[in-house]
Amino acid sequence: MKVFKFGGASVKDAQSIKNIGSILSNYANDKLVVVVSAMGKMTNAFEWLINSYCYSPLKVTEALNEIVDFHNEILWELFPDKGHIVYVEINELIYQLEQVLEDYEDYDKAYDSIVGFGELISTTIISNYLNETGVANEWLDVRKVIQTNSEYRQAKIDWEKTEELIGKAEYKSIVVTQGFIGSDSENNMTTLGREGSDFSAAIFGYCLNAEDVTIWKDVPGVLNADPKHYPEATKIDKMSYREAIELSYYGATVIHPKTIKPLENKEIPLYVKSFLNPQAEGTIVQKLTEFDDLQPSYIFIEDQILVSISPKDFSFIAEDNMSFIFAALSAAKLKVNLVQNSALSLSLCFKNEEKKVKKFFESIKKSFLLKYNENVTLLTIRHYSEEVIASMTNNKQIYLEQKSRNTARFILK
Ligand code: ASP
Ligand code: MG
Repeated sequence: MKVFKFGGASVKDAQSIKNIGSILSNYANDKLVVVVSAMGKMTNAFEWLINSYCYSPLKVTEALNEIVDFHNEILWELFPDKGHIVYVEINELIYQLEQVLEDYEDYDKAYDSIVGFGELISTTIISNYLNETGVANEWLDVRKVIQTNSEYRQAKIDWEKTEELIGKAEYKSIVVTQGFIGSDSENNMTTLGREGSDFSAAIFGYCLNAEDVTIWKDVPGVLNADPKHYPEATKIDKMSYREAIELSYYGATVIHPKTIKPLENKEIPLYVKSFLNPQAEGTIVQKLTEFDDLQPSYIFIEDQILVSISPKDFSFIAEDNMSFIFAALSAAKLKVNLVQNSALSLSLCFKNEEKKVKKFFESIKKSFLLKYNENVTLLTIRHYSEEVIASMTNNKQIYLEQKSRNTARFILK
């Protein structure tokens, strides 16, 4: 058994769906689960729909029309015969969506029961298209197998139930199913967090003891930097699970952070490959660590704020102060990306989210002196050398640096 995952960019229009059809035609006789996300940027459009519904009801029709029109255009191109069953199925989904919209309780719950329609619609279109073009497959409603708790928008997997249900499902031919969503014990739709489809693929991989899992992307594999920040970025051919987790911890976004653990637990290899060049090798993520230090990786996180905090009474920044500050951070829901302390001050770096930062500052400014620099970038270099550091920090102002054996981090402007 193999698991494939196709994200939004790989199903953004009719042409891309045809491309997936051609990739999958090579696997027609394999046991394969295909996990698919919502098309293109549709999840954002669904977020807009739910926000309109909650905060500006006059915009609901416009938001809904945008979603319907986007999918219709793709449908017309893929299914010129307007009598095709897919039109009935999509209309039925839109009808269900409208029903849910009338049934609003609380925001997070409503969010989950609406946003996941992006995946239900995309997989319905793709499954029908594949069957139409000779790639026999069955559509699986993932809500019947991925069971979660009711923490809407960040639902946690009930592994025992999910493993049992995924194990019991039938896999006679290729199975096409939804990423990102699941169901709670009351049959309400839940979501696993934005960009969660990679994780869905890993869940299937784990529960089916798959031979491997492949994430198909618009890049050749895992790159050693985001080309937006570093145009000379190159592909990493092999890396360990450990390295993949480290990279995503430091802010790399190629693989969703929750994806690795289930695969690591069963030593299932993860491939990251290009749907534009399906024959090319891509990246393999596996157990061996011996290839990890062959080349440096760079992770840039922008729009950070570096805050230096010192007690007003010139006392040491000791444990009691720290626990006060960290409690305030957690109350403001700020996620700290870097910490450094000296005798008299604690430096913290986090994303400059205005409301949260303001809340945090308000709660500590009575007892602490605050100094900060906005608009700084946090650069992490894995497997660095002094030359690499010199070239990356050249002409930049360095506000802070931190080094361990494998990782060097800089706050720069
Ligand atoms: N469609 C969802 C999102 O855009 C899940 C995913 O793409 O992985 O967040
Ligand atoms: Mg997406």
